[in-house]
Amino acid sequence: MFQAILIEKDGTDIRAGLSTVGDDRLPAGDVTVRVAYSTLNYKDALAITGKAPVVRSYPMVPGIDFAGVVEHSAHPDYKPGDKVVLNGWGVGEQHWGGLAEKARVNGDWLVPLQSPFTLRQAMAIGTAGYTAMLCVMALERHDVTPGKGEVLVTGAAGGVGSVAVALLSKLGYEVVVVTGRPEEAGYLKVLGAKEVLERKQFQDPGKPLAKERWAGAVDVVGGQILANVCAAMKYRGTVAACGLAGGMSLPTTVAPFILRGVTLAGVDSVMCPRDLRIEAWRRLADDLDPAKLDGLTTEIPLSDVIPTATRLLDGQVRGRVTVAVS
Ligand code: NDP
Repeated sequence: MFQAILIEKDGTDIRAGLSTVGDDRLPAGDVTVRVAYSTLNYKDALAITGKAPVVRSYPMVPGIDFAGVVEHSAHPDYKPGDKVVLNGWGVGEQHWGGLAEKARVNGDWLVPLQSPFTLRQAMAIGTAGYTAMLCVMALERHDVTPGKGEVLVTGAAGGVGSVAVALLSKLGYEVVVVTGRPEEAGYLKVLGAKEVLERKQFQDPGKPLAKERWAGAVDVVGGQILANVCAAMKYRGTVAACGLAGGMSLPTTVAPFILRGVTLAGVDSVMCPRDLRIEAWRRLADDLDPAKLDGLTTEIPLSDVIPTATRLLDGQVRGRVTVAVS
């Protein structure tokens, strides 16, 4: 038997609770992992609260991330005792996920724990942090180097945003951030922001082209804010877009793309190819300051996951949340 957050559906009623589950209910897979840490991402909060159709079948154990130790393996790459990490692949959406003491998955979805990280640090990074790294790598691929000018990060006090600020500042970029929580300015400056802008300046519809300011941007918000960011990109600038915390829409025009050669680079972590994942984790080991990672992380027990999910969607959670599972 093991403890798990279980989401169940009864008619239209979706409920999440902490349950005791038998090993015989674990899904199919060739590797069983004793989960040490999981985490709470925006998508997990949507799944747990039922606020968006993230979960594809019920009952479901949420948790798109976990880090733990292999208990049983029929996969050639893993043996009992190996430390492993999982991010995405539909885990926590269509296959039981990491917010449980045990997980059974396809071994191809795992990556070995990247040295020098601990299991806890790997989850402090989690999907949010690894996505932030993918965004930075997307900017680099489009030639946004530190000398090119200011780089903007939206939703900066959240998980993806906080890690993106820490990474970009360590890499030598001039980082400007947008937040709806000006009271977090001190926190954001410690992470490396040189200027903190208020979200409300970005919320109203603007002109198709605004004054050129940003050489690059990492956007976790979407909607009108992303449209306004695109309008203010410098000539041949790039926006790495990964999120929808402010909405699914994108009320922009083609002007920034056809008149300024702006690139909108989409970033997906869920089905991201294995080589790129391994490269992102290697880069995180080089480019993420462990002291900053500690400073942006809060730890909770499995029993606090459900109330914390609601607080996260209300924009009240700062940085990253790790879940100490077992
Ligand atoms: P968090 O909740 O930790 O952070 C989101 C941040 O967005 C908030 O902290 C807040 O920042 C800002 N925000 C929230 N609501 C609004 C709003 N209505 N308008 C404008 N800004 C808002 O979430 P994560 O960092 O974990 O995830 C961020 C986004 O990235 C989510 O949409 C998530 O689904 C997406 N994501 C996508 C991935 C991919 O593979 N493409 C992977 C991981 C995440 P502040 O308080 O500073 O304003």
